[in-house]
Amino acid sequence: MTFLALKGVQKHFGGFRAVEDFNLDVERGEFVSFLGPSGCGKTTTLRMIAGFELPTNGTVEVDGVDITYRPPNKRNVGMVFQSYALFPNMTVAENIGFGLKVRKLPAAAIRKRVDELLELINLGGKETRYPYQLSGGMQQRVALARALAIEPQVLLLDEPLSALDAKIRISLRNEIRSIQRQLGITTVYVTHDQEEALSLSDRVVVMSEGRIEQVGTPFEIYNFPRTSLVARFVGTLNVLTARVVDAAAGRVEVDGQTIRTAGPIAGAQTGDMVTIALRPEIMSLDEGAAGANQLRGSIDDITFLGAIVRIRIRLAGDGVGAGGGGANAGGAGGGAGTVVFDTFNNPHLAVPQRGGSVTLSFPPEACLLLEQSSAAAAPDPVAEEILAG
Ligand code: ATP
Repeated sequence: MTFLALKGVQKHFGGFRAVEDFNLDVERGEFVSFLGPSGCGKTTTLRMIAGFELPTNGTVEVDGVDITYRPPNKRNVGMVFQSYALFPNMTVAENIGFGLKVRKLPAAAIRKRVDELLELINLGGKETRYPYQLSGGMQQRVALARALAIEPQVLLLDEPLSALDAKIRISLRNEIRSIQRQLGITTVYVTHDQEEALSLSDRVVVMSEGRIEQVGTPFEIYNFPRTSLVARFVGTLNVLTARVVDAAAGRVEVDGQTIRTAGPIAGAQTGDMVTIALRPEIMSLDEGAAGANQLRGSIDDITFLGAIVRIRIRLAGDGVGAGGGGANAGGAGGGAGTVVFDTFNNPHLAVPQRGGSVTLSFPPEACLLLEQSSAAAAPDPVAEEILAG
């Protein structure tokens, strides 16, 4: 059942459209992330749920009640910011209990709730410390406890882990997820980190230029991105421009080499250019099964990433039609006419040599045909910069 609903929400700053036609139903207890490049409207949307911004149009409802014009302190919403925003002159216990004190709860009830939350965030015994005496990770756990103290109907987190180092980020993200599950609290989480969104969420909302690009489970978003923006933003992916050779047979040409997609290419004519996504982990460097696609090339670069070995291959074709470039993430980015291929490491892996000729194989089903992005009509320079890696 829908618990949080955003209906036709828009936010314009003067003539600038920061959020456009945003429609989303979030189930009770669901964990939803807003994912997208800087400036795509994630924080603005979150702030409209919190009441810090008023929508230009549309409504925000929680549990069937329209709260669009309620001030923040009259909504039962908890918010965690990137910057922790703890009160520096208050102890951990005073910070956590702040919202309860404002609501004039008796001191004994506040103490009991603070103790429960200290236990929940594993900071028992630290209640008399001040924020400056805590690490960044501890401070963010206090901020989370403070947001949870008022037993909010909805928990909102705005890039809460961005200021922390990689190891703490991963442990705190697991902690946030486990606390969220334990409490069953409806949560909206803003991030531009695809791994964070995929690992934490029940559903991910990929945004671009103020619009929803795709909503889906992490599995759907990663495996079946609908547009090239989603495909490029979620994971390391080859996005290739291909020329249609035979639309009915699903045959296209990439860099002068012909491959097949899984089925007919709807609405395309011979000679049209289409965009195809290919996951690096779906390919192999052997002959492949009967009917597999093959692309010839030479090894341009090999990056050892621990569990994964990433190999960049320059296609051996005529340079026509592969302009989409290689994978975007992890710094392995390709460029025109290159494809990135990932293989699992093992100590006996026969790693090929740079410059060596190879044939990449992959099944036709691995070729995802992408739709035009809803924001693609006018390329977003910020998004392009991020997607370029
Ligand atoms: P980031 O990850 O960088 O925080 P975001 O996706 O959260 O990005 P928002 O902060 O929601 O993006 O901003 C969306 C757009 O709206 C940006 O172009 C931003 O400059 C603009 N914007 C946000 N707040 C205001 C404001 N008060 N006045 C004018 N423009 C604004």
